[in-house]
Amino acid sequence: MRAAVFDSTSATPEAAGSGRWLSIQDLPRPEPHPGHILLKVLACGVCRTDLHIVERDLPPLQPRIIPGHQIVGEVIEGATAELPPGSRAGVSWISGVDGDCWYCRHVMENLCDHPVFTGYSVNGGYAEYASVRADFALPLPAAIPVTQIAPLLCAGIIGYRSLRVAGVERGERVGLYGFGSSASLAIRVLQSWGCEVYVVTRGEQHRKAAEDLGATWVGDEKARPPVELDRAVTFAPSGKVVISALSHLRKGGVVAINAIHLDQMPAFDYDKLMWGERQLRSVANMTRQDAREFLTLALELNLRQHVTEFPLADANEALKAVKHETAGQSTVIVS
Ligand SMILES: [Zn+2]
Ligand SMILES: [Zn+2]
Repeated sequence: MRAAVFDSTSATPEAAGSGRWLSIQDLPRPEPHPGHILLKVLACGVCRTDLHIVERDLPPLQPRIIPGHQIVGEVIEGATAELPPGSRAGVSWISGVDGDCWYCRHVMENLCDHPVFTGYSVNGGYAEYASVRADFALPLPAAIPVTQIAPLLCAGIIGYRSLRVAGVERGERVGLYGFGSSASLAIRVLQSWGCEVYVVTRGEQHRKAAEDLGATWVGDEKARPPVELDRAVTFAPSGKVVISALSHLRKGGVVAINAIHLDQMPAFDYDKLMWGERQLRSVANMTRQDAREFLTLALELNLRQHVTEFPLADANEALKAVKHETAGQSTVIVS
């Protein structure tokens, strides 16, 4: 099968600088282990985390890896009652946990001590086939186009989890800092909960997208929302943005940081910004419960977004589009 492979042993700064992170290779089709299913990949979303992996902001876990953790595929082998042959299945960032660590035993599988990350610790979906754990594959409806459903599988689920971690309640004032794939899905969920949504984002195109999706208020990175916020979610990999969000909160408000990697956290004035029981919380991974809840909601709301498609052979171009934010709200590789 053809696959786009990141080789961390031969990755040079020159290759990375030129955007040649991945090489297209011919590899044997994976043999599914017991408890796994083999998927014929139909589409795989491209996430900023993939960029962090190939740019080594995240340390390599394998010498060679096929990235991609928003996989939509067709069940070819290892079918189960829930996932019959030929049905659609989705796989996200977490594709396995040990099931018996303290966190797993306390309904926090997102914090598992021994997690398996799709496209990072095991091969992902920038390929024609992928073998995944059956109990971490999500049944998907065939009615929704595969390129629309792929971006829901990380950006959507993690965006949804972020709203939960921020403790959003119906009708609240919520700030979204950054307006890419995750935020453009989260805003629709917030609107369905009757929330006012205040969007702070740099880039004219992102502000326009937020306005088009009916944000209550939109401003650039220097602007201050006209009201104090109950909750905020930050999506940019920037500590400065986190502090800015913190400075817009009411007492007792929460900032949920939706970023697996931040450049750095600047020093800030605790007395002014944090005292008053304001909270900063990070959002780590996701649970299968988050995934199922969000997918149900996404179907109810008929979530749609602007997707830019790339063939597998152009996987590097897809990553570049995410890096430079030149694509639509979501970027998807079609095998
Ligand atoms: Zn992701
Ligand atoms: Zn565990």
